Formats: sequence, structure tokens, C-alpha cells
Amino acid sequence: MKTSSTQSEFDLIRRYFAEMTTSCEGVSLGIGDDAAVLSVPPGMELVVSMDTLVAGIHFFPTVDPSTLGHKALAVNLSDLAAMGAEPAWVTLAITLPEVDESWLEAFSKGFGDLARQYQIALVGGDTTRGPLSITVQAHGFVPSGWALRRDGARVGDEIYVTGTLGDAALYLASIIAADGQQSCVESLSRRLEMPQPRVEAGLTLRRLAGGSIDISDGLLADLGHMLEASDVGGSIALSRLPLSDEVNDWIHLSDDWSPVIAGGDDYELCFTAAPSEKAEIDRLSDKLDLQITCIGTIEEVPGLRVVKPDGDIWSGKDAGFDHFKGAG
Ligand code: ADP
Ligand code: MG
Repeated sequence: MKTSSTQSEFDLIRRYFAEMTTSCEGVSLGIGDDAAVLSVPPGMELVVSMDTLVAGIHFFPTVDPSTLGHKALAVNLSDLAAMGAEPAWVTLAITLPEVDESWLEAFSKGFGDLARQYQIALVGGDTTRGPLSITVQAHGFVPSGWALRRDGARVGDEIYVTGTLGDAALYLASIIAADGQQSCVESLSRRLEMPQPRVEAGLTLRRLAGGSIDISDGLLADLGHMLEASDVGGSIALSRLPLSDEVNDWIHLSDDWSPVIAGGDDYELCFTAAPSEKAEIDRLSDKLDLQITCIGTIEEVPGLRVVKPDGDIWSGKDAGFDHFKGAG
């Protein structure tokens, strides 16, 4: 691509993204100036999160660009959900090897559809040339003092997770094993490519949850972060983990739990709540039609104990657990 055409191409990109913007309260000035001007509603705090997706590391360069647009936003909304924040604005930094209009159109559709679903305004960003990479910064609101945090778990709380675990990791492992060919668990592809951020759950959990985190690096790692931040320990039972039929079948065949407890890309919430909140949590699950499962308990003794289906505590040396060494 010629350098002389760069400016008009970047104008084009800006136009694509400017069209995606929905109007949103608090945006005094959005895309088009040197910076956006924004105001936070009175009594609210601003919650900010940023995630980068790099081609070849976080996604296959050949992935459908519309699912990539969705995912780039969804992973950030998942962080806001874990904090109990209501999404408001996003910025988008995109680095492209070349300007491909049909790619941009599909990417902006995937991104824009999810942004519109939550009435999120794209208020600015940056566009550069280089290896394909996408960074999104998401901004949300939470009533002052009400943000959910990793350090809020208390001894005696129950540990919950939303949705099912391991679907995305199993799908990813299966396409890697099949060398990019069609996977035997194709039905799970949307769990990897189109994660659904648990925004509505996060908003209600503000008043129910103690500690909260989103599961992006595998249950053991992320729950481990919450236990550490809260200065507590805990135990979970593998038999209680919520599994799709496909993942359940896989475990029966392989006795390998790694996709479920050490996989990545679940984008479900892991939170704790006092036992007295159980009825409210069941109501939330019904209202959102979202599985919410109690998987264990917060305890005083530091560390995470994983109880195997046979009742023994996983020692770390057991067969079938090799893949997630170091994840706890
Ligand atoms: P400057 O050169 O002053 O930094 P830019 O030319 O990078 O400005 O951007 C001009 C406007 O377009 C700014 O409002 C910026 O936020 C917006 N913009 C640029 N790239 C993107 C993008 N990928 N997504 C959204 N807005 C963008
Ligand atoms: Mg400028």
C-alpha cells in the first residue's frame, strides 16, 4: 500500500467506526476531535478496563472478523461485569497490516452489534498500520463504593460460577489437534468466538456478592487470584462444576479436567456470597435464564483444595491433571 494513500484510508477507517457510535448519556464530544469529553453521572464511580487481542496469539488471523469484533468488546465487558459496572463508553485502538474494506465492515458489525445491545458509545480510538492487533478500553459506572472486587470473599461464603466451564478451551484444543480442520465439537465454537459477557448478572450481584472475578485464564488461576486478594482459602468439588454435554462426554472419555479448570476464554463470572443469599441467587438465575452453580466454599486455611469425584483431594500428581500444573 502506498504511503500517500494512508491518510484517506485512515479517514475511511474512522468513518467506519464513527458510524458505529450510538448516542449515550455523558458524551459531550465523541469521535472526531483530538479527544473525547465525557462526564460521569453524580454519585457514580468510573470503572475502566483494557484488553488487547493479538493475531496469532489470542486469535487465528483467519478468524471471522465479525466474531473478532464481538469478542474484542465482549472480553472487556466481561471485566466490567465482574466489577458490577454498567458499561457506558469504549475506545478502540486497531492496528492493521492493510486496509481491507470487507474485513473492516464485518469487524465493525460484530463490534457494533454488541455495543448497541448495551447502548455503549464508541467515543474514540487510534488507527495504526502494523501486525493485526486490537485493544479496547471499556468504561462503566458503578454507584460510589459499590464496585465488586477480588478482595471481597469472606470465610463461610459459598463459591459460585455462571454458565458452564471448559467449552471454549475444549473447542480450541480440538481445532489445534485437528490442525485447523473442522472440529468434532463444532457446537462449542460460539463459546470461543462469541463469548456473552455476564453484564446483567454483574449488576445484580453488586448487592449479593462478596468477592468477584471473571474467568478468563481458567477457574483455578482466577479463583486463586480471588482467594489470594481476599486473604482466604477455599475448596471446590469437581463433581459440582457446571459442564455442557460435550465437555462432560470429553471428561468421561479422557479423564482430563484441564479444559474445565485450567482452560481459558470462559468469560463466566466466579463470585462468592453468604449462604443467606442463596434464594436471591436462585432467583437471579431464573430471571436471567443463566445457570449459576455453587461449586464450593471459602475457608480460613489458605490455598485452594480441589475435591475429586472419588472424594480424594487432588494432589497435583494425579493422572489426567498434568495439563494444569502451576495453574492453582
Ligand atoms: P490525532 O491524530 O489527533 O491523534 P486521529 O487522527 O488519531 O487523531 O483520530 C481522529 C479522531 O478519530 C479521534 O477522535 C479519534 O478518537 C478517532 N479515531 C481514530 N481511530 C479510531 C478507531 N479505531 N476507533 C474509534 N475512533 C477512532
Ligand atoms: Mg490530535
